Amino acid sequence: MNWDEYAAWGKKISDWGAAYHQNLRDQPVRAQVAPGETASLLEPSAPETGEDMGTILEDFERVVMPGITHWQHPRFFAYFPSNATPPAILADFLVSTMAVQCMLWQTSPAATEMETRMMEWLRQAIGLPGSFSGVIQDSASSATLAAVLTMRERSLKWQGNEDGLSQHPKLRIYCSGEAHSSIDRAVWVAGIGSDNIVRIPVSGAHRAMDPEGLRQEVKNDLAAGYLPIGVIACTGATGMGACDDIAAVIDVAQNFDLYVHVDAAWAGSAMICPEFRALWQGVEKADSVVFNPHKWLGVQFDCSAHFLKNPEDLVRTLAIQPEYLKTHGQEGFINYSEWSIPLGRRFRALKIWFLLRSYGLNELRNRIRNHIKWANDIADQLRATPGFEIVTEPMLSLFTFRFLPKSSGDLDDVNQSFVDRINDDGRIYLTQTNIDGAKVIRFQVGQFDTTQEDVQTAYQVICDTAQQFGS
Ligand SMILES: *Cc1c(COP(=O)(O)O)cnc(C)c1O
Repeated sequence: MNWDEYAAWGKKISDWGAAYHQNLRDQPVRAQVAPGETASLLEPSAPETGEDMGTILEDFERVVMPGITHWQHPRFFAYFPSNATPPAILADFLVSTMAVQCMLWQTSPAATEMETRMMEWLRQAIGLPGSFSGVIQDSASSATLAAVLTMRERSLKWQGNEDGLSQHPKLRIYCSGEAHSSIDRAVWVAGIGSDNIVRIPVSGAHRAMDPEGLRQEVKNDLAAGYLPIGVIACTGATGMGACDDIAAVIDVAQNFDLYVHVDAAWAGSAMICPEFRALWQGVEKADSVVFNPHKWLGVQFDCSAHFLKNPEDLVRTLAIQPEYLKTHGQEGFINYSEWSIPLGRRFRALKIWFLLRSYGLNELRNRIRNHIKWANDIADQLRATPGFEIVTEPMLSLFTFRFLPKSSGDLDDVNQSFVDRINDDGRIYLTQTNIDGAKVIRFQVGQFDTTQEDVQTAYQVICDTAQQFGS
């Protein structure tokens, strides 16, 4: 394909993109294909000779689209949102077109300098103090791995990368049972071992870890010869939105010189609204904080904002400088590849710049406030509807509920069939989780095109489905 043809197809694809978003309400939210259906439509090997783009795009519609779950659907109420907004998509189009690598300042000065400034914009927008510096990671999982590696190196006096862990005492990391699975992975990958994650019991409506329990576990571990290295606290965990008492956790952690990382992957976006910041009160004393603009803020995956009190500690943990990466005579510039695990880096700051300039913070706040209000509204409706109970109250825009049919039977099984029936129907999409061993249904509002009517449709679908179950 030459560049003239590319220009013509590019126009067609942007038209396709607009129509896709405009017509999504008519599509089932979750893909309705069976396992193996897409694979059976794909040739077993690559073609020897090229094909024309018209054929490839026809096949895209035929082979790919039926197997797509529509995360941009306005009635996507499953998992967490993963918003892609028009200005951010346009920015990514430009970024893909230039395909620059943003590992060093000199490999694209504009990308590095814009990344620094965009992280400043986001830091101010969510109300973190100027003592934090930021870097954009691909995902919260990477930011948390970077935090765990930093905890490890800091506690091992910067020797772990060289010595390995075998000659050191066993390291310990603390979090609640609500913490995300990315923490387990980070601990595995850092060589610390999942046996050394200490889960602190939770209590209260926020399912927050018990700070006294944390203090006791750290003391016990010290007495037993372990080396406690850090705590991972959460603001808005994935199951039901659990929020630790960040101030209380940090209070304990500081007594033992433990590093504190705050995982606010989903809820961090809501902090652009000052009225929600009480949920992470004390966060200014954390060592690092991560939140995903690629969830709720409107920047499509991948874009994770990682804020650090002491970026020097992270760089000391991750920087590596073979001769081919040295930038002689250019010291004093930030080389963001020293702040992250992969060397190569996309130009992610551009989509933040386009998003924030195109919407402005006020409009983004309006959306998030609406999502939270509508989630509260439907929770109230379900509370008042016979056959349903609210299990956890809305945490921002996420709550959980349970279907209680008149008929007997295992409630967990019934609730799983209830969710499956809803998702087969296709008008909305919900997922389930476990709370204290019981299966519950999650409901979150966060897609950018969602309207109040879409949330009302969800209430209708839930009630219709209950009737089908004879309730
Ligand atoms: C989504 C999520 C993560 C993982 O985010 P990725 O960017 O996909 O790695 C981690 N923690 C919480 C609380 C999340 O909601």
